[in-house]
Amino acid sequence: MLGLMQDFPLLVHTILDHSAANHGERELVTRSVEGPIKRYTLAELRLRALRVAKALDKEGVVMGDRIATMAWNTDRHMEVWYGIMGIGAICHTINPRLFAEQLVYIFNHAEDKILFVDLTFLPIVEALADKLSSVKKYIILTDSDHLPATSLPNAVAYESWLASVDADFAWASFDENTAAGLCYTSGTTGDPKGVLYSHRSNVLHGLLSNQPDVFGLKSNDVVLPIVPMFHANAWALAFAAPAAGACMVMPGAGMDGKSIYELLQSEKITMSAAVPTVWLGLLEYLQENNLDLPYLKRVAIGGAACPRVMMETLENDFAVEVIHAWGMTEMSPIGTTGKLKFSSAQLPPADRINLKLKQGRTPYLVEMKIVDDEGNELPHDGATSGHLLVRGPCVSRAYFKHDGNILEKDNWFDTGDIANIDELGYMQITDRDKDVIKSGGEWISSIEIENTAIGCEGIAEAAVIGIAHPKWTERPLLIVVRKTGSTVSTEEILTYLNGKIANWWMPEAIEFVDEIPHTATGKIRKTKLRETFGGYKF
Ligand code: AMP
Repeated sequence: MLGLMQDFPLLVHTILDHSAANHGERELVTRSVEGPIKRYTLAELRLRALRVAKALDKEGVVMGDRIATMAWNTDRHMEVWYGIMGIGAICHTINPRLFAEQLVYIFNHAEDKILFVDLTFLPIVEALADKLSSVKKYIILTDSDHLPATSLPNAVAYESWLASVDADFAWASFDENTAAGLCYTSGTTGDPKGVLYSHRSNVLHGLLSNQPDVFGLKSNDVVLPIVPMFHANAWALAFAAPAAGACMVMPGAGMDGKSIYELLQSEKITMSAAVPTVWLGLLEYLQENNLDLPYLKRVAIGGAACPRVMMETLENDFAVEVIHAWGMTEMSPIGTTGKLKFSSAQLPPADRINLKLKQGRTPYLVEMKIVDDEGNELPHDGATSGHLLVRGPCVSRAYFKHDGNILEKDNWFDTGDIANIDELGYMQITDRDKDVIKSGGEWISSIEIENTAIGCEGIAEAAVIGIAHPKWTERPLLIVVRKTGSTVSTEEILTYLNGKIANWWMPEAIEFVDEIPHTATGKIRKTKLRETFGGYKF
């Protein structure tokens, strides 16, 4: 027997209807790409998003079309985001930090029809435009006064484009399982993979992420999402903040300590979220200038492990609560947070920090377990490490236009992380199975560097591992076995690599060894190398 409740599809644009109706006076503030701070209300956000929807409809965009954005966190990005999703098209957020070949691959694989692009990224897109086979129109996120000359075909200033329509338009209604957002992850081997979120998964994830032991946003919060919207929905904040009726402050292109501090103070931010590298920049700025943080109450730190000194400094010196978060693009992305439980809140301060430094426990709607190589479940004893598997309504079941099953038995998704789980349910990452390095919140493929390096005269074998780095979390170390008789040097290898891989992928250092360890199947034994170079300092 079925229940007799209404079939009310979970569609993301209902979030804007709710926020406009109930929190319409709350503000969305933006440090614009052109420079000045701009502000309007959540009610106006909804009206401008409706105009985007109407203008896209006029362009002939239909359900399922992929419409790309390459943009900072701004008011315009929010309008476009909801406008696209509100007619059943798919908002494809593109990470501008990827390098040219990856970007071309992603645009063409997604078959994006229109690109909304910030002024900052025009040069990147102009250089690629010839190779973008599906993009028919470029909408530059600025007004006609700031529109520069551009070689992009069919380019128009966003504000002029939007001016041709009013907000007299109704959102579309459709099945809640309809695709809403597309975000490619390069945290896998091979080409980037498209994670395709649905309206249902985004709405559920917005609610999941706003449970009290996750972000716990309230209508009196002022939220600064520093984590980009092109990084898995700004960790849900693009949905959760308007749903809660919180004010949103969008940082635009200003990610440095000074710019962030200015917004924290002038807008009286109460909650923010970013990767450790960003917080490091802010802490340096605060300490150099002897500043404090009177308004900021809590910050989410994730994407990479939160360093102990960062948590201690923020909590002890600045009285800012740190929420250590773990997750991944395929999880929408929230997986766990390290919030204390009632029982652990009574612990001495040092033990509390130890617990909070773990990646944390799952909110309702995320399930996780650890298994051995054969898939047998391992005990939650805080010591036994295994492959970390997850499942839930906001976890991917397949990649976009990608054959092959990505799930294990009973729908478990292997995160590629190695972790233990303690008796209280706190998960701690101890290693990584996937062959990628996380630097400043972005992925570097160790395999790509190895394959490129091997082409250098004099190199017999090359292996790349991530080494802890105080600013970037991890940086690549290239380990090289020279060919017999070769004297190839660090400088020669770096010169060879220059231009063949992205600048920020360049190895931080190169070490020469006689032999690289291998597994029984002939693969490089990265675990052994990580052990050997455990305490390595650049
Ligand atoms: P992405 O899909 O780019 O968000 O990357 C997800 C991956 O980043 C995870 O599988 C982890 O390897 C890593 N990661 C994310 N958050 C954390 C964290 N708090 N601590 C350690 N690693 C993390």
